Amino acid sequence: MFEGGIIIIKHYGKLVRNTAHLTDETILYQGPGVLKDSKGKWYCRQCATPNQHDYYTYTSAFHQQTITYCRRCLQLGRMDTVQMIAVTETAHYKSSGEYHLDFQLSQQQAYASSHIIRAIQTQEMLLLYAVTGAGKTEMMFEGIRYARQAGLNVAIVSPRVDVVVEISKRIIEAFSHEAIDVLYQGQSQKYCGHFVVATVHQLYRFKQHFDVIFIDEVDAFPLAMDPLLIHASASCYSHIYMTATPSKHLLKQFKKENIITLPARYHRKPLPVPKFRYFKFKPQRLQPYLLKLLQKQIENKRVTLVFFNQIEAMEQALVHYQKYFDDLAAVHSEDALRFEKVEALRAGKHRIIFTTTILERGFTMAHLDVIVLESQTFQAAALVQIAGRTGRKLQDTSGNVLFLHNGVTLAMLSAKRQIQRMNRLGFEKGWLDAEM
Ligand SMILES: [Zn+2]
Repeated sequence: MFEGGIIIIKHYGKLVRNTAHLTDETILYQGPGVLKDSKGKWYCRQCATPNQHDYYTYTSAFHQQTITYCRRCLQLGRMDTVQMIAVTETAHYKSSGEYHLDFQLSQQQAYASSHIIRAIQTQEMLLLYAVTGAGKTEMMFEGIRYARQAGLNVAIVSPRVDVVVEISKRIIEAFSHEAIDVLYQGQSQKYCGHFVVATVHQLYRFKQHFDVIFIDEVDAFPLAMDPLLIHASASCYSHIYMTATPSKHLLKQFKKENIITLPARYHRKPLPVPKFRYFKFKPQRLQPYLLKLLQKQIENKRVTLVFFNQIEAMEQALVHYQKYFDDLAAVHSEDALRFEKVEALRAGKHRIIFTTTILERGFTMAHLDVIVLESQTFQAAALVQIAGRTGRKLQDTSGNVLFLHNGVTLAMLSAKRQIQRMNRLGFEKGWLDAEM
């Protein structure tokens, strides 16, 4: 394993990246991305997988030689026996860390900020258990400024690409003077990685490099995700986890004093509480109750997200309801046009959107209500996230959350109780305004 630093990828002798950015860094290793170790076993410089089945050898007609590459970390940029890479030493350099915000942090955001700075100073792990719409992104700002002024390397990561896209826009806008690398899927590194917004997988590029890591939506990690990844990419342990729906397992990993509960939304209004209603959903046909419900939503000038637990059922239902609503759209996670569709939705081009859990997180717009079909099949965390889409905007702080079901489940009750508990706590702390 190499000592620490960043991997730069050269493509067949031609530099993909501009090395001008790397003047402050020393090269620790130069050579192929995949090579044989002293025992004659294949070794990948990027992910170091010991599993020999991860390596694949073929004969390239173009290069007129056999090439072995690593399949395990292919999505991070191919490592093989031909392509030369360089590993640079981790450098630290200070920047102003100045940011611009149009508004003042709320009482609760300022409280969270002070805890974040303390965690950075003491190099401790912190869990921010913050309700949806609490304004988590802004809570990080003071901590980021503190870290960058001290020359600490900062990463903001999330397992979800959508969340990375959304957060990176706001971070770049606020920290307009900082050199920020945004890394996901095909995006390439432009700067030295002192300030990075990335999907969790991209951390493979870095070894013992980061001093402060913010991990957003930590509960959305795929089960297969390597838990050591974050530890390997960090030089010390100032990790700040943020989530609206922590699992019991996650909560257990923190000392009580390092779990900060943030029950209030930034606009000081309580979370909309879900309503339950019995409705047996049949995707194969048009159901008058659902049709009337949707028509009423349009009369009331509301935008409605309708959540389905299956793509297939969603597409079946779409055929029937499209006849009544010409702007009805559908979006799911495997949809190639999903980013474009989400943009159109935001631009107000659709009044009703059929969706799977892809819009469960990170999506925000005004005048939004949610309906969950077959809510008895959803987990509590997903239901809390879905309910959390509503009432987030300052000009529209309320919203309707309707769980349609054919039998109330414990998960549904648990979701409702969590929301009610947070509202109660918010009022107790004085972080929510008294209801009119
Ligand atoms: Zn690899």
